Amino acid sequence: IKLTLDDLHLSNEQLTKIMKKMIKEMHKGLGKDTHDDATVKMIPSYVKSLPDGTERGSFLALDLGGTNFRVLLVKIKEGDKLDGKPKIEMDSQIYRMPEDVIVGEGEKLFDHIAMCMADFLKRLDLLDQRLPVGFTFSFPCQQDGLDQATLITWTKGFSAPGVVGKNIVKMLKDAIDRRGVSLELTSCLTIYGQTFKMMHDMDVDIIAVVNDTVGTMTSCAFDDQECMVGLIVGNNLVYLTTFLCTGSNACYMEKMSNIERVDSDKGEMCVNMEWGAFGDDGALSEYRNEYDAHVDENSLNCGKQLYEKMISGMYMGEIVRLVLVKLTDDGLLFGGKGSDALRTRGSFQTSYVSQIESAIPSGMTAVQNILATLDIGAMRHDCEIVIQVCRAVSRRAAHLCAAGQWSVVVSIALHPEQEVLRMTCGVDGTVYKKHPTFSDIMSEKVNELCAGADVAVNFALSYDGSGKGAALITAVAQRAINAEQ
Ligand code: BGC
Ligand code: MG
Repeated sequence: IKLTLDDLHLSNEQLTKIMKKMIKEMHKGLGKDTHDDATVKMIPSYVKSLPDGTERGSFLALDLGGTNFRVLLVKIKEGDKLDGKPKIEMDSQIYRMPEDVIVGEGEKLFDHIAMCMADFLKRLDLLDQRLPVGFTFSFPCQQDGLDQATLITWTKGFSAPGVVGKNIVKMLKDAIDRRGVSLELTSCLTIYGQTFKMMHDMDVDIIAVVNDTVGTMTSCAFDDQECMVGLIVGNNLVYLTTFLCTGSNACYMEKMSNIERVDSDKGEMCVNMEWGAFGDDGALSEYRNEYDAHVDENSLNCGKQLYEKMISGMYMGEIVRLVLVKLTDDGLLFGGKGSDALRTRGSFQTSYVSQIESAIPSGMTAVQNILATLDIGAMRHDCEIVIQVCRAVSRRAAHLCAAGQWSVVVSIALHPEQEVLRMTCGVDGTVYKKHPTFSDIMSEKVNELCAGADVAVNFALSYDGSGKGAALITAVAQRAINAEQ
């Protein structure tokens, strides 16, 4: 058992090597000539300025690629006179994404999104308003502007054909146009008599496409000036029945002069790292074990997103399951007798890992109950081993994530013009929120590793970050557009 658990341990020395490799990849991703070979794409997000508190208005946000598909209405209003900070009011609705929509024809996916938007606006009686839209689309996209995003590749089990290589904003606009005039709006047309509204049943203006990391960072920056990093650890895609994956990624504010692919050298821009693909060129091979290989081989995107697969939630559960199967086969666990359920891919949910690690020794029955759902009768001794395995797997994920964060901190701390002593990282994701120790282990490790760089890193949990962030980014952009006019 010790040998098996050792397989899942990473020393500080190893984490240092991983950090250095990540930094190398980040440089490649930022460089003009090296970019094409980089696994970490370092995508310019065109988010340059963070909210300054003067933004106002109503915005529609769409959030695809996280736990659920959500449509949100975000109102930024005048705050009370005392602290002057604007107030944010939100309403939102979750829409189920049927499986055939996620893996079916790309146009259908966008038709579905447009349908949800129309439904949402109708319920709020806003169909006749022209609302600015921020679209959180949490997949790697090449961006050529805030509202110009081309999907590079699907991740996390999405696979709708006909979207890779396409302009996401255009696909959404086309889907809205396909809807034509609806009856509800016809009646409102006769009242207002405006002809341009006859084009389609809702009139929206898509201002920004943002990654969830960027949205999370922005919404956190709204409350905390020191926030310059965004992190996502494993949003579960809970509505699906097939074995699906969860994501991990980070973004941070980088000096424009370091972003070679964007001409301007003035100021800063948020860079969506797409760090999940780190290791896809073999950089992590010495740290990957037989379980990682197995998880990857059985995934929908084999050979891709290797770093993500070592960190994110759904994979954590699956790695635990594989270790338990191995220990059972070696006769070290469950009296050498597993169950069909235990041998079924995806049966060990991420939430089990959280629940099991939350169970203190005297709460052994909690562990027994979880194992019973997998048709396993576990003795105290078995439970103790299962707890150890869960701890080892989640600890490794937290440490790997910490190594990535360390590279970000080092990159920011290297900016010569500015001395950064403290920074906040806005975080979202099921694993970070729900796992009992992941956040503490990661934050402790990051600060231990960063001690040499004299930077203190504070992690702030973000609620509704990606949607709220998209609205704030849209608000900032709209303010700039208005100022130009
Ligand atoms: C995607 C990223 C996203 C992350 C977290 C990854 O699979 O490539 O764009 O930020 O998941 O949702
Ligand atoms: Mg530049």
